[in-house]
Amino acid sequence: MTSSSASSDLHDLGVAQLAAKLAAREVSSVEVTQHFLARIQQEKLGAFLATNADVSLAQAKAADARLAAGERTPLLGVPLAHKDVFVTRDFPTTAGSKMLENYRSPFDATVVGKLGSGSDGQQGAGMVTLGKLNCDEFAMGSGNDNSAYKPVKNPWDLERIPGGSSGGSAAAVAARLVPAATGTDTGGSIRQPASLTGITGIKPTYGRCSRYGMVAFASSLDQAGPMARSALDCALLLSGMVGPDPDRDSTSLDLPATDYATDLIAASAQSAGAKPLKGLRIGLPTQFFGAGCAPDVLAAVRGALAEYEKLGATLVDVSLPLTELSIPVYYVIAPAEASSNLSRFDGVRYGHRAASYTDLNDMYKKSRSEGFGDEATRRIMIGTYVLSHGYYDAYYLKAQKIRRLIAQDFQTAFTQCDIIAGPVSPTVAWKIGEKSDDPVANYLADIYTLSSSLAGLPGMSVPAGFGAGGMPVGLQLIGNYFKEAQLLGAAHQFQLATDWHLCQPPAFE
Ligand code: GLN
Repeated sequence: MTSSSASSDLHDLGVAQLAAKLAAREVSSVEVTQHFLARIQQEKLGAFLATNADVSLAQAKAADARLAAGERTPLLGVPLAHKDVFVTRDFPTTAGSKMLENYRSPFDATVVGKLGSGSDGQQGAGMVTLGKLNCDEFAMGSGNDNSAYKPVKNPWDLERIPGGSSGGSAAAVAARLVPAATGTDTGGSIRQPASLTGITGIKPTYGRCSRYGMVAFASSLDQAGPMARSALDCALLLSGMVGPDPDRDSTSLDLPATDYATDLIAASAQSAGAKPLKGLRIGLPTQFFGAGCAPDVLAAVRGALAEYEKLGATLVDVSLPLTELSIPVYYVIAPAEASSNLSRFDGVRYGHRAASYTDLNDMYKKSRSEGFGDEATRRIMIGTYVLSHGYYDAYYLKAQKIRRLIAQDFQTAFTQCDIIAGPVSPTVAWKIGEKSDDPVANYLADIYTLSSSLAGLPGMSVPAGFGAGGMPVGLQLIGNYFKEAQLLGAAHQFQLATDWHLCQPPAFE
């Protein structure tokens, strides 16, 4: 690659396009990696917590060797970066917390291995890791302002949050510092930052990706998923991430890996024509379109739905009557599980240890007080409270019962429709600091993502236009269990007909 204009275009290419160029050997993985690393070096968004050029270039060289030997697998040599809750052998892993400052895992998370050099004795997809991405501490938050290291700025407006908790992943993809990133979604952390930064992201059905090596927040909800610019790119990534991991995550589903991208391309070729989505019934929950949603967001979402009608889909009204309860239910269950998961950070086995202490109890107390930030501490306290004797039945058990009813409501809705659609977030991205001192204001903003998380359903965010302040708005698509391919297909058809996903923040062209 000699022409600088050609190489400066590399960051405009998505995963599928980069993969094609690499496979045609028009560019090497080392060249692509160097290009993105140079861009990352200049970033002022706070998106990255760690990079290591030597490690990335060594991975790129290994990918180039596989390409030179004639291997042609879809992701080989394409770079990405991981949310810093996935443990990595070659980079530090902090989970956005001081508790894990400088922590180095002895192994790679299953998802990291599958996308990278390999996992469980199987060769990996051969993607190159560019570094680790900033996030809210232990993935707790909606604005990335709970990171112990630095906030992340939204590339569309540097004074605004990029969403959370996968805010670094979203900002890095939106600013074209990486072609794709991993994220995790416990109650919306892939979909909401994707929506607020104008990118595409999918949270698969609970259990579809192994959680092994993901720093645990709320184990019955946590799921990994890809964030990229298009549904096609997400399909490519997701194909490399899913699959059972029976020895290491007993909640990973015993379903074979699926080639979502090939399925998606085949389906769209078959359905080519004026109405490719003919027969698709899209359910609109009345509770998602009420007064709680800002008018600018609703206007963009309705515009996207009108486009879906043009593509042949029909819109039907459905009801998810317990939507409001998803907030209290989630904010009982998630902290309960978090309080248990975070008990391992005691300053003994790993994690921050206070410099001086009088006895063992004092050591626990000081280490945990120093290591955890305000939000993690708040959740440990709430979780411990709702699990304690006398309150367990009143809060935790009741929340579990309502969780089941919420899941049932979705099944009722799915008798009337194939996909459920609505907003992802009730507003566009807010100003950094605006909700920092108000945890409840953050919790309320999760209203449209929590219920499907509690039900374990797949969901995605698709760029659908712009709202107040010229900020991006995402359309949420929720599918029934294991219907990732259907969601990706519906998003892909929309992206063939619209170009919201191609818009980019002016300062990062
Ligand atoms: N915003 C939600 C929370 O703070 C969801 C976070 C997530 O999905 N990791 O818990």
